[in-house]
Amino acid sequence: MTDTVTETDAARTYRLDRAHVFHSWSAQARFAPMVVTRAEGSRVWDGDGREYLDFSSQLVFTNIGHQHPKVVAAVQRQAAQLCTIAPGTAVAPRSEAARLVAELAPEGMDKVFFTNGGADANEHAIRMARLHTGRVKVLSTYRSYHGGTHLAVNVTGDPRRWASDHGSAGTVHFFGPFLYRSPFHATTEAEECQRALEHLEQVIALEGPDTIAAIILESIPGTAGIMPPPPGYLAGVRELASRHGIVYIADEVMTGFGRTGTWWGLEHGDVVPDLITFAKGVNSGYVPLGGVVLNGPIAATFDDRVYPGGLTYSGHPLACAAAVATIETMHEERIVENAARLGREVLGPVLAELARTHPSVGEVRGTGVFWAVELVRDRASREPLAPYGGTSEVMNATVAACKAEGLLPFVNYNRIHVVPPLTISDQDARRGLEILDHALTVADAATTG
Ligand code: PLP
Repeated sequence: MTDTVTETDAARTYRLDRAHVFHSWSAQARFAPMVVTRAEGSRVWDGDGREYLDFSSQLVFTNIGHQHPKVVAAVQRQAAQLCTIAPGTAVAPRSEAARLVAELAPEGMDKVFFTNGGADANEHAIRMARLHTGRVKVLSTYRSYHGGTHLAVNVTGDPRRWASDHGSAGTVHFFGPFLYRSPFHATTEAEECQRALEHLEQVIALEGPDTIAAIILESIPGTAGIMPPPPGYLAGVRELASRHGIVYIADEVMTGFGRTGTWWGLEHGDVVPDLITFAKGVNSGYVPLGGVVLNGPIAATFDDRVYPGGLTYSGHPLACAAAVATIETMHEERIVENAARLGREVLGPVLAELARTHPSVGEVRGTGVFWAVELVRDRASREPLAPYGGTSEVMNATVAACKAEGLLPFVNYNRIHVVPPLTISDQDARRGLEILDHALTVADAATTG
C-alpha cells in the first residue's frame, strides 16, 4: 500500500520556509514561524485556519489594519498604470505622497526624501545632519531602536546593537527619561525631566558641542519600552540642540501616522525638530516605504551642492500610491482621532484595571494605541519577569496563554505591548484585553512580592 497523504498548502509553505528562508533576528534552526494565510482588519489566520486578534500590528506597522480596501485598490490601480520607474523622475504618486507627508509635518518642513524603510531613513537623516553641520558625532539614548543597518544599529541603544557594535565611530549613548526605572533616582516626572536634561547637557559638554552633528530621539521610545517622556523633556532637548547648533532628528518610524493618537509623537511634546524620519504607518507597510522630512535650512544645504546618497527605489510608485491612499483614508475615516479615543476610553482604563488586579504588572504606560505592560516578579523591587535583553519561561508561558486563546501580542523581554491597528473595534479591543487578563494569571503565579 502506498502512502497517498498529500501535503497541505500550509505545510508546503512551512517546509519551504524552513528549507530556504533565512529569518531576521533568529537562530535559524530553532525558529518556527507561524504560517499566515490571510489577514483582514485586526485579524490574521494561520495555516490551520485558526483566527487570531492581532494586538501587535505585526511589527507595529499596520496602523490602518490589514487589507484596507481603499489602499488595496490604490495599489492595484497604480500597478495597472505604472508599476515602477527610476527615482530621478517626477511621477504623480511620489509627488502626491510627498505633498501629503509635508502637509502633516510642522511648518517649514517641506521636503521629503523617500527610502525603503526606517533604518535607511535614519541613515540618511544622519548623513544629512553630518554634511549640514560638518560634524560627526551622533547622540542617542540607550533605550532606543533605530534600525538594523550598520549605522542605524550602532545608534540603537537596545541589545540588538551589541553584536554589531564595532566601527561605530562617533555614536554616543545617553540616558533618556524613564521614571519607572529612573537612572537618576528621581521620584517625580518633573525631577526625572530636569535630571535627564541636566545629564544630556553634561554629555554634550563632555563630548564637545562642536563635534556633535545630531541627537536622534524617538518621540516616544517604542520597542525599547513605550516610555512617554515627561512634559518638557522634548522641548528641553530642542533647546539644547538649538543652543549648540546640533541637528535634532525625531525618529517617528513607530510613533508617526497616528499610533499615539496624534499624527506625530512629537505633538505630545509640542516641538519642531530639524529632521523627521518615518516608515511603517505611512502606508501601513502594504509596500515598503520610509523617508526623511527636511526643514528649510537643511534642504537648502543641498540646493547647489549634490546630496551624496540615493536608492534605486526611492519613492517607488506602488509604495507611494499606498501612502497616498493610506493618508487620505486616515483623514476621511478620522482614524487618528479614533486612536486617541481608543486610548482614552478603552485601552487606558482597562489596562489600568489590569495593573490594579495583577501583581505581575509593575506598570502600564502609553497613549493612543501605544501601550506597554511592564511585567515584574516583585512590585517592590521591580525585578523584571525576564532579564534585559533576554526571555524567561514564565514570559514564554504568558505569551503562549495569549496565543492559546487567539491573541497575538507584541513581546519585548519582560514587556507585552498592546499595539493593535488604530482601526480595531472597541469590542475586539475589549476581547483582546480580556484574553490578556486571563494570560496574566500565568505571570502572577511567578511573582514573589
Ligand atoms: N526606528 C524605529 C523607532 C523603529 O521602531 C524601527 C523598526 O522597528 C526602525 C527605526 C527601523 O525600521 P525598519 O525596520 O523599517 O528599517
